[in-house]
Amino acid sequence: MTFSIHGIAVARGVAIGRAVLVGSSRLDVAHYFISADQVDAEIDRVRAGRNAVVEELQRLQQDMPKDAPHELAALLDVHLMLLEDEMLTAGVKHWIRDRLYNAEWALTTQFEVIARQFDEMEDDYLRERKADLEQVVERVLRRMLGAPLPVVSGPRPRRQQDLLLDDTQDVPLVLVAHDLSPADMLQFKQSVFAGFVTDVGGKTSHTAIVARSMDIPAVVGARSASHLVRQDDWVIIDGEAGIIIVDPSPIILAEYGFKQRQGDLERERLSRLRNTPAVTMDGQRIELLANIEMPDDTLAAVKVGAVGVGLFRSEFLFMGRHGRLPDEDEQFEAYRAAVEGMQGMPVTIRTVDVGADKPLDESRRDDAHLNPALGLRAIRWCLADPAMFLTQLRAILRAAAHGQVHLLIPMLAHASEIRQTLALIGQAREQLDHRGDVHGPVRLGAMIEIPAAALNLRPFLKYFDFLSIGTNDLIQYTLAIDRADETVADLYDPVHPAVLRLVAQTIAECQAQGRDVSVCGEMAGDTTLTRLLLGMGLRSFSMHPSQILAVKQEILRADTAKLKTWARSVLDAENPAELLAG
Ligand code: PEP
Ligand code: MG
Repeated sequence: MTFSIHGIAVARGVAIGRAVLVGSSRLDVAHYFISADQVDAEIDRVRAGRNAVVEELQRLQQDMPKDAPHELAALLDVHLMLLEDEMLTAGVKHWIRDRLYNAEWALTTQFEVIARQFDEMEDDYLRERKADLEQVVERVLRRMLGAPLPVVSGPRPRRQQDLLLDDTQDVPLVLVAHDLSPADMLQFKQSVFAGFVTDVGGKTSHTAIVARSMDIPAVVGARSASHLVRQDDWVIIDGEAGIIIVDPSPIILAEYGFKQRQGDLERERLSRLRNTPAVTMDGQRIELLANIEMPDDTLAAVKVGAVGVGLFRSEFLFMGRHGRLPDEDEQFEAYRAAVEGMQGMPVTIRTVDVGADKPLDESRRDDAHLNPALGLRAIRWCLADPAMFLTQLRAILRAAAHGQVHLLIPMLAHASEIRQTLALIGQAREQLDHRGDVHGPVRLGAMIEIPAAALNLRPFLKYFDFLSIGTNDLIQYTLAIDRADETVADLYDPVHPAVLRLVAQTIAECQAQGRDVSVCGEMAGDTTLTRLLLGMGLRSFSMHPSQILAVKQEILRADTAKLKTWARSVLDAENPAELLAG
């Protein structure tokens, strides 16, 4: 039966595919397609893992002391029974043979299918067996993962045109999860999924930001989607409206198939703007820069005609590594790769911004109750660990010898933090000189993303060459709304008069002092706000490559002289959203 779930729209477009539910298993597994000639080997891998666990459990049974509690023996029996259950083994074979899923993916998928059936059982005892099943599946996975884990990769699914035609491994897949960390998302970046849905998250949570950078339809904050959607259900994700339609009827499918093709045509049309200079109707040249997470993203940036990188979120090099941080050489190689990828255009590397919704690794999430968005995040973390920060600074300064590098510091609020940061940059240079290593000049920038910084720009204008407004955090901290919390997402308002005033004042003060200023938060890539930002005087925008051409289209149609007066009226309005819509 068709039903829909509403969430928060984060990345445009329509995806139609079968649901892959992830997240119930506590083990991360790789998701990739195998080739037909690997089927038997993959089935053997699961069988070997399962047999090893059966042996292990039988050994435990044999060695069990006579006085061991009766429940323990019964539990081992249950686990052995579950392992030998036909439904588990036949199901796993089905996913491998008919869908060409890799072994781990097949096992977790079948686990989800059976777990769902347990959930629906009336009998409490049987319902609770789900936890046992999860344990045995995890044991098997662990056995299988004893061998090196294959990287998550595989062909990106074709866009859905053949939905009604086939039911093979070519069917697009959409990922449905309770939650995905930014590091998970990064792992999925090269993967097979055509769209994403998560139960939690807000429009500018980092998970949503990475989904947007992947340029595939995504909905976050869909509350109970991961409970309502079943493994392998057909799902439509409408990334524009923030709606998920489960088990759609043929009429709805046809309608969305049409919408999807329209979207493809629109992209095709926009792609022709790639080489068109971003100049407004009244001749103002606008700088369109890219936000990236990894050096490889420069490919997409160059492809859409970005004139530089306005924000390289370097923390993505640091995440999901179980606390082992990248050393100086590894970082240097990554920064140099980004610089070279941009072929002579400037690259703005932001120093590491972990904390809040970007924990270094999942175990650190336990700190959630400490209010991490207000805690030891970004530059605060760097100043608290100077050795780590100096390592990053040296790597960036070395990369600056290979091209134009701008160094951007996040989350500054106090003049004392600015002075400490500058001192450490000086120290990093001295260390490089001492070692005889080559380093290059950098332009220094600060992010304006804490209201206190926006309200007290003087020290920033004194010490920095340029400022970059981080609207994602500026909104979060101005309105006291956790950007990653879907329960208050309706109050996360980029056009709240207070937010607009802070953004406008920052732009105006920079202009008055002759400092470059840009916006690198998600507002910069929102086409409904392009005219307003132009009217405020903004001439430099940094956003995900996927948004650049649509924003350029707005710019080509804009007349900044007219927009200036209009922007003033929006700023003075009680409800700016009304004027923007009109
Ligand atoms: C911002 O806060 O607007 C920003 C660009 O940085 P991040 O989203 O990484 O916090
Ligand atoms: Mg920020």
